[in-house]
Amino acid sequence: MNNQDKIFIKKFESQVKNTIEKYKLAKKKDKILVAISGGKDSTTVLYLLKKFGYKVEALHINLLMGDWSKKNLKNVKEFCKANNIKLHVFSIRNEIGYSICYVKSIVQQKTKLKQCTICGIIRRNIINKKARELKATKLATGHNLDDEAQTIIMNWMKGNPSLSINMGPVTGTIQDKKFVTRIKPLYFQKEKDIRKYSEIMKFPVLYQRCPCVFSATRHEIRNKLDELEKKDSNIKENIVKNFLAIQKKLREKEQKGKLIYCQVCGEPSRNKICNTCKILRTVKK
Ligand code: AMP
Ligand code: ZN
Repeated sequence: MNNQDKIFIKKFESQVKNTIEKYKLAKKKDKILVAISGGKDSTTVLYLLKKFGYKVEALHINLLMGDWSKKNLKNVKEFCKANNIKLHVFSIRNEIGYSICYVKSIVQQKTKLKQCTICGIIRRNIINKKARELKATKLATGHNLDDEAQTIIMNWMKGNPSLSINMGPVTGTIQDKKFVTRIKPLYFQKEKDIRKYSEIMKFPVLYQRCPCVFSATRHEIRNKLDELEKKDSNIKENIVKNFLAIQKKLREKEQKGKLIYCQVCGEPSRNKICNTCKILRTVKK
């Protein structure tokens, strides 16, 4: 590692540490489960939380998406072994009875839900359930500044800022015994910096995006923000910081609503039947 890289690594690590401390993301007595996909972001989160002295274990869902999933699983296993981290792997077929590609292909024919939305809903449901069963007190994900700025703008464009209510470095507007608090230690880190960090550290990760990912809107927003960033390097941070400033108000309003449990699977939900069960019903129909 050359001197410049050493300076970069030090700065990056202290920024992440600062996010964790400023937003009180975790305490040393927490048992943190890191949802690890095999990509650079979640691998970086896992590495840093461990390096900072937190109690961490990793959780990976094998989505059974052919070669892509096989490579991710191999990388995740290699990384956890090398870093002496306990890894829990769950297969999507054992959890919901199908591969994710099958669910997506059926549900897309019958509803307007996008591929990434379907996958995201199911993943969040499984990850929360497993984290709770493993008695984790926090659940960490690899969401970064770019993801968050794009999502804020997308939700804004849908005319529904309250869709972003659960965003922020710590999610979960309502405390509930069935809901494990989610934390995002890379909330203020730019994607390009995470990539650089991961490359310097030589993490065994795939740098390509998921082969299914294609959201035309997100793609356009990503490109536009990258372009604008060349003129103003703070643009993504400004979007996120402005959002956080008004989010408090949105959350106060939302807190009046109650989290209930899905009548089918018993998981926390805002509706009588949770989105995962609605998707699985569509598949079975
Ligand atoms: P994404 O929605 O693909 O941007 O992923 C968001 C976060 O979810 C990642 O940073 C990971 O923390 C987690 N994640 C994504 N895929 C998986 C997976 N297959 N297993 C466990 N966690 C995952
Ligand atoms: Zn359900």
